[in-house]
Amino acid sequence: MTDTPPLLEVENVVKHFPLPRGLVDAVRGIPPKAVHAVDGVSLAIRPGETLGLIGESGSGKTTLGWVIARLLPASAGTLRLSGVEADEGQGPGLLAWRRQIRIVFQDPVGSLDPRLRAWQVIGEALQAQNHMERQFALGEPARIVREHRNAVRREEQRLWLACHPAEEAKRSLMRDYRAGVEQRAKAFEEGRARLEADYRDAVGRLRERARATAPSKGSRGPSPEIVAERERLTRDYRLEIARRDATRRQEEARIGLEFRAALLQAGRQRLPPDEQKRRTDAYRAFRKQGLPPPVIPRIPVPRRLSRGVIRRRVWEALPTVGLPPDCLDQYPHEFSGGGRQRLSLARALIVNPRLVILDEPTSALDVAVQAQILNRLVALQKERGFAYLLITHNVAAVRYVAHRVAVMYLGQLVEVGGVRDVLERPIHPYTKALLAAVPVPDARRRRTRYRITGEIPTLLRPPPGCRFAPRCPFVIDRCRTEDPPLREISGRADRRVACHRAEEVADVAPDLLLAPGAPVPSPHPSSSTGTAG
Ligand code: SF4
Repeated sequence: MTDTPPLLEVENVVKHFPLPRGLVDAVRGIPPKAVHAVDGVSLAIRPGETLGLIGESGSGKTTLGWVIARLLPASAGTLRLSGVEADEGQGPGLLAWRRQIRIVFQDPVGSLDPRLRAWQVIGEALQAQNHMERQFALGEPARIVREHRNAVRREEQRLWLACHPAEEAKRSLMRDYRAGVEQRAKAFEEGRARLEADYRDAVGRLRERARATAPSKGSRGPSPEIVAERERLTRDYRLEIARRDATRRQEEARIGLEFRAALLQAGRQRLPPDEQKRRTDAYRAFRKQGLPPPVIPRIPVPRRLSRGVIRRRVWEALPTVGLPPDCLDQYPHEFSGGGRQRLSLARALIVNPRLVILDEPTSALDVAVQAQILNRLVALQKERGFAYLLITHNVAAVRYVAHRVAVMYLGQLVEVGGVRDVLERPIHPYTKALLAAVPVPDARRRRTRYRITGEIPTLLRPPPGCRFAPRCPFVIDRCRTEDPPLREISGRADRRVACHRAEEVADVAPDLLLAPGAPVPSPHPSSSTGTAG
């Protein structure tokens, strides 16, 4: 999978939410504030891959998901889908993007319209997709006709020139002549600008000298020597300009003569009679064909999908997410929590997207239903090759479903890698602390739940340097000033960590990291660490 080109590429994406500035702040000149929800995130997802995105609440995971789904515009950065960059418009590009990337929202109750029945909720996506395909289908014939005409004109032109070698030679000469004239004019203007700059410099220096050697009070203007010098400079400058103008005119006249002579010569080019006849026949035969109407593929897209078609397609789709087909006419409130989540899933998958963003798909469900939903996701991925971006707090779900995992803290990625690598051998101190806080179903280990101390800093004023520095036990002075880049560790492109001391802290166990008073490699004296919970 590592050699497959990425399906989705996210490059340095930034999302800030500017806050309204009060009158008092404006009068006092206090700069506008913004919530730095996502700051310079880069990641890639390959076809058929699941990337888990974990982190504390408020770390920017959901905002990143919304930016990728283009429900929110990015403040900066680039999004690419199958190598095609996302445009900023709201037109067909956005429709095509949403056709390929679907999102399952965090709250299935709030994201389903309570007035619609199950088939209508899911059918909305089908109707929207039909509308988009109709737009493309309507525009496609016009594009094909336009491209066909252009191709025919180009071919006709090529054949005509083949019959008239003199014309081809004349056109080529004309192109060269124009390019040469433009190049010479540019060189002349540049030379003239340089000469003028030199002249002004010399006059400026003369003025300085006049000031430095100013005659006594009472006398008027600069000394006669300075005046004479200035007149000489101006005279030389004007003479040089006149000389260059004359040279330019002579050169242009000479080139013009040469060009006309070459044109005359080119106009005498003739083909041997047999060759001339062959080419002329080919040209005439092509002209006789005229402009045949291109074969336009008819794309039958109805104006609107009928109620019957939608009901049938939803009826077929419901079993794929584990819902019985006879619940077509139920309202969302008549489903259980798991049922509503499946309904959301069916709405996202019915249009066959390439990437599904799953925002906490199991957070509102009990453990048994969580397992069912996750199993269904894995099965659907195997069947249809969907890629998933799984945004969750549930590390067990990530371990079960994801191929790779990215850890986010305060709007930035701090660690990315294979799911086993990151979850079993975390390197970044934040990842270690996050994973150490996950409850383990083991009676002996229940007493050793660790947590990182300190408050998560505000997103209005993220700390300079490493954002984890105020809570990190390994913090050094460099961390407080220099933002650590997300860099490869041990030369492995698939494992990246944003920490200045990644190599030093890689082998420190989470228990050592967070146990009170435990020795850690050169910890900052003022940053004693967390407590057992
Ligand atoms: S060691 Fe420094 S760079 Fe690494 S996580 Fe801690 S504060 Fe950040």
